[in-house]
Amino acid sequence: MTGDLDDSDLACQVFVTLVTDYLEGALPGPVLQQVQAHLAECPDCAEYLDEVRRTAAALGHVPVRSLSERTREGLLEAFRGYRAG
Ligand SMILES: [Zn+2]
Repeated sequence: MTGDLDDSDLACQVFVTLVTDYLEGALPGPVLQQVQAHLAECPDCAEYLDEVRRTAAALGHVPVRSLSERTREGLLEAFRGYRAG
């Protein structure tokens, strides 16, 4: 609880859009810090990241659409809500 960052800056659906760049080390510093802060307090995103990272290790590159069905459905749902808003 530092109060330096607005907790709403990085919602789960935003994290999902950044996870590929995160794994590729392509995020700018300030964004990377917010991602790491979010991961620290969001088990769901940490689990998602772990799944993507394992898949990436198996494939040799970061996957775009090889998530489990259940995870993907949830993400698509989040995306729809995000874009509709
Ligand atoms: Zn999250």
